[in-house]
Amino acid sequence: MNEWGWSVLVEGDARFIFDADTNPLVLAHNAKILNVNLRGLEFAVLSHWHYDHYGGLPYIAELNPGINLYAPPEGMPMAMRWGFNPVPVFKGGLLRNNIYTSGTVDGFEQAIGIETNSGLVIIVGCSHPGVDVMVEKTLEVVGYKKAYLVIGGFHSPPIFRLEKLAKLSELIAPAHCSGDVAKTFLKRKFKEKYVEVKTGTIIKI
Ligand SMILES: [Zn+2]
Ligand SMILES: [Zn+2]
Repeated sequence: MNEWGWSVLVEGDARFIFDADTNPLVLAHNAKILNVNLRGLEFAVLSHWHYDHYGGLPYIAELNPGINLYAPPEGMPMAMRWGFNPVPVFKGGLLRNNIYTSGTVDGFEQAIGIETNSGLVIIVGCSHPGVDVMVEKTLEVVGYKKAYLVIGGFHSPPIFRLEKLAKLSELIAPAHCSGDVAKTFLKRKFKEKYVEVKTGTIIKI
């Protein structure tokens, strides 16, 4: 089921969810079809307080009561009502093991960086402050010059941001609100970097 939302289930050293799409039904339906269990998550991360990212969070809290929700500070009371242990994110730094937050950028949105054997994987939400900005912040926090993969919503960026992004990452997977113009541009100009993602795509790293 495809809605105007964004959610990534990460399974590695830790099992957690980054953003939770528009509503519980989408998450429940897609989890069933993909045969993934949304129970037993160690924690949840929210990029920013827009409905297409937090809509399914009450369902995640219902299945995983009391887990930490790392999120920009503004929605803490709501997160608590849903049943999370809300952890407001201000500065960039380590969240768990090999997982870092960029910190809340422009007082609004965070990205995360995950260290893998292939390199740093950066997951962004909508990139309202600019996808290149989110990536630069994350690289700086983790201490990398370049990412292995950047995946998420790029918010219909102007071309200069994509050019900059291409210098900062080996692979690029535009999704959600990236827009057809950005996708087509990346596919044409940076063919060797382009990774196609759709609802239900599984990426092994
Ligand atoms: Zn969005
Ligand atoms: Zn947004």
